[in-house]
Amino acid sequence: MAIDRVGQKVRCVMSFGIETSTGETAAGCPTEGTVYTVGGFEAVHHPVAIDGVTHLSAPGIHLGEIRGICCLKCARPMSWPIVGFAPVDERETDISEIVRKALDVPAPKVLDPV
Ligand SMILES: [Zn+2]
Repeated sequence: MAIDRVGQKVRCVMSFGIETSTGETAAGCPTEGTVYTVGGFEAVHHPVAIDGVTHLSAPGIHLGEIRGICCLKCARPMSWPIVGFAPVDERETDISEIVRKALDVPAPKVLDPV
């Protein structure tokens, strides 16, 4: 399962420490363990260090819940590195949906032997 659609639920698996111009950690950055909604896709604007390795470009996502944070370098809305997120399998986590679908399935018909 990949992160590939707007509206998909993703869990943040990396702590993002974005420093403001005053050297403080910006409030409202994605928090490890929190579930967000994919709001769009855009490559990360600038070289980004992921697990100690600097990538010149990396796939990124916008988050529906976090819209107020803009990039300090270009002032566009932040695009967060996609590797910092894991897809949430809603089918596994939402038990009520599984039960509902099970109830919607018509009972199998018994066919008369030909
Ligand atoms: Zn930027």
